[in-house]
Amino acid sequence: MDDCIFCKIAAGDIPAERVFEDDHVVAFRDLNPQAPTHVLVIPKRHIATLNELKPEDEAVIGRMYGAARDIAEQEGFADAGYRTVVNCNEAGGQTVFHIHLHLLGGRMMHWPPG
Ligand code: AMP
Repeated sequence: MDDCIFCKIAAGDIPAERVFEDDHVVAFRDLNPQAPTHVLVIPKRHIATLNELKPEDEAVIGRMYGAARDIAEQEGFADAGYRTVVNCNEAGGQTVFHIHLHLLGGRMMHWPPG
């Protein structure tokens, strides 16, 4: 998608602090972190929201969670615990319409979320 900021990050056209990349996913630090570690894991292929997920996207969603697990290990909070979040559409708080997994760690999380 030409006007998608996360497609541009995936392509390397917009800078981001990458912490992980493979053939199908990229992970980079959030510009406005909500925890000591706040990383976004995205598929390289444009998928706008969870609502647009197709059966053929299941493998890349699995890779996104695998990347989050590995990054939590690298960042040192895998055992302590962390949170993963996917926001969907306006009521879910989604502001960038290229699906992304938030990985938040390094502090105690609270429930319910805001
Ligand atoms: P959401 O509200 O779930 O759509 O999350 C979008 C996230 O993208 C927010 O946490 C923003 O801080 C983050 N964000 C937006 N633009 C960038 C960017 N260029 N680089 C890194 N993070 C970004």
